[in-house]
Amino acid sequence: MSSLHNTLPPPEELQAIEDRYSSGLYAKHPIIIERGSGARLWDVNGKQYLDCSAGHGVANLGHTHPAIAKAIAEQASRLITLPETFYNPQRALYLQKLVNSTPGFERAFLCNSGTESVEAALKLARLTSGRQEIIATMRAFHGRTMGALSATWNKKYRQPFEPLVAGFKHVPYNDGQALEKAISSETAALILEVVQGEGGVYPVDPAYLSLAKDLCEQFGALLIIDEVQTGFGRTGKMFAIEHYPVQADLLCLAKSIAGGLAMGAVLMNAKFSNLSPGLHASTFGGNPLACAAGMAALEVIETENLAALAAVKGKYLLDKLSAIQSPLIREVRGLGLMVGIELKQKVTPYLRALENAGILALPAGLTVIRLLPPLVITYAEIDQVVEGITSVLSGGVSSD
Ligand code: PLP
Repeated sequence: MSSLHNTLPPPEELQAIEDRYSSGLYAKHPIIIERGSGARLWDVNGKQYLDCSAGHGVANLGHTHPAIAKAIAEQASRLITLPETFYNPQRALYLQKLVNSTPGFERAFLCNSGTESVEAALKLARLTSGRQEIIATMRAFHGRTMGALSATWNKKYRQPFEPLVAGFKHVPYNDGQALEKAISSETAALILEVVQGEGGVYPVDPAYLSLAKDLCEQFGALLIIDEVQTGFGRTGKMFAIEHYPVQADLLCLAKSIAGGLAMGAVLMNAKFSNLSPGLHASTFGGNPLACAAGMAALEVIETENLAALAAVKGKYLLDKLSAIQSPLIREVRGLGLMVGIELKQKVTPYLRALENAGILALPAGLTVIRLLPPLVITYAEIDQVVEGITSVLSGGVSSD
């Protein structure tokens, strides 16, 4: 352990320092996490947690994967920062590998987060189509910068910041008729999640997705697929869109793209081949450190066969959860290792009880427990998660 760790103030003091100096914009869990490995995290008191939140879906490869740590360390002593105005070997090779990691794309814009990737996609869609209207869906979550927030549905996130960007409208998810009514030759783009994550873990209806693609083609609108949460093996394919015979025009990526390091990207198809310099950019975008981590992440996903494993482990988890006999459960649903347990009541007390039992999970809306475990989670660890959930959902947790 480093000398920093030997000289740390006691836990209650650390918590007070963070409370005193952080923005106040986060609802904090009263746990101080200091270390992680695979699907496990440890707090400063040595208590172990099975991490089914994976840093909000970032740690697909598990925490501190040695290949990521090595790539970051090697690149950090070579070159950390370099804007895209200069060429760089790590970036060149990474761009090639990323763009070719799924069919149908020609180029990528590199940025630093999910909301930035959505922001870029919205701008590119307006630029390329020459139109303004963006159609998004109810329950969608696309991020919190002004453009991405305009595509996000939840009024809790939107209202304090209105007026948002003009030209956005929302239609019900998985409702083909509503989309048919809304789309027109004025529409620049339709933006969709293949599985709505934050909105409640709702997988897309395949017929709806095909219709959405047909309608986009018919009206000359672009299809933006937001894979910030569903990407990089999470749903059992490299990208969730690969479960369906549909091609996106723009694919938004972030979260687990670089094994835990901050990074985002937009993949673009041939419709975006004539973008002019200066129309969009990011100082940190495509920095060699993130590119090295991104390259290592793609290699790990391939060599450890993580996407295929997520499909098998996801089915194992879903089957076990579906077998839980609890009057609290309304439905269990998901795709790969992106799983939602919808309760008949609010999930907050159950999430707290799980946390006490050493299992970290996320809410999705008010009534859904969302599980996004690292794809490297073992079967024994999945069994432990299911045991914990079974016990919490059958034990007398107060729901007020
Ligand atoms: N899009 C989706 C589908 C997301 O789930 C998220 C974050 O949860 C975002 C965009 C925004 O990503 P970030 O928090 O990195 O800005």
